[in-house]
Amino acid sequence: MQHTAFHVSSTGRSRLTARRAGSFSKELIESVRAVSRIEQAAGEHVQLRQSGSQLIGRCPFHSDRTPSFAVSPNKQVFRCHGCGVGGDVFTFVREQAKCSFADAVRLLSQRAGIAVEGFQPSAELSAKVAAIKKERDEEERFERFCNERLDAIGRKYRSLGRAATHAENYLVSGGNDPHIEERAWGAVKRYRDYEARVEREELCDSNVLREEWVRGSYVAA
Ligand SMILES: [Zn+2]
Repeated sequence: MQHTAFHVSSTGRSRLTARRAGSFSKELIESVRAVSRIEQAAGEHVQLRQSGSQLIGRCPFHSDRTPSFAVSPNKQVFRCHGCGVGGDVFTFVREQAKCSFADAVRLLSQRAGIAVEGFQPSAELSAKVAAIKKERDEEERFERFCNERLDAIGRKYRSLGRAATHAENYLVSGGNDPHIEERAWGAVKRYRDYEARVEREELCDSNVLREEWVRGSYVAA
């Protein structure tokens, strides 16, 4: 019995040595990354305030007078526009604690209550990680949708703008073809109407885009 216990513990130790060298399983790293919140890890060292979709504060890695340090809770990354440091939650812990990647994994897994040694994800953890990943994938898809939507609005706006400029040039040049003149006024009106619509319906507002996206994706599904 004692012999078995010794044997198990010695195996455990060699596994521990291997892990200290940084040989964590990908699954463990992914799980720790998924359940750790960068805004929480950074928030312990930086006073963060909301600014749009980001949180900003004074960088803890250089002498920062203005808030150059930005955290994106959606993307779970940070970046300092002053000193250029940036990355995910592991990078933040490494930079902050001046420690190795392996130590950062150990520290964050301890906080998340995940046992590093002999890591076997529980059904509960696997489900949680899957749900978090799904949510983040969804956010990424939403972001792509927003970029496409804003691009499309921009393209239409520019194209109507070009037509309106042509039309205005015609109108000020004193052209006297009533048919062309009517079309020119039409082009100017279409441009102004679209501009007013973008403004009135807040087509570029992220909340409006989100509503549209949710509606669209559920209708499509
Ligand atoms: Zn910095």
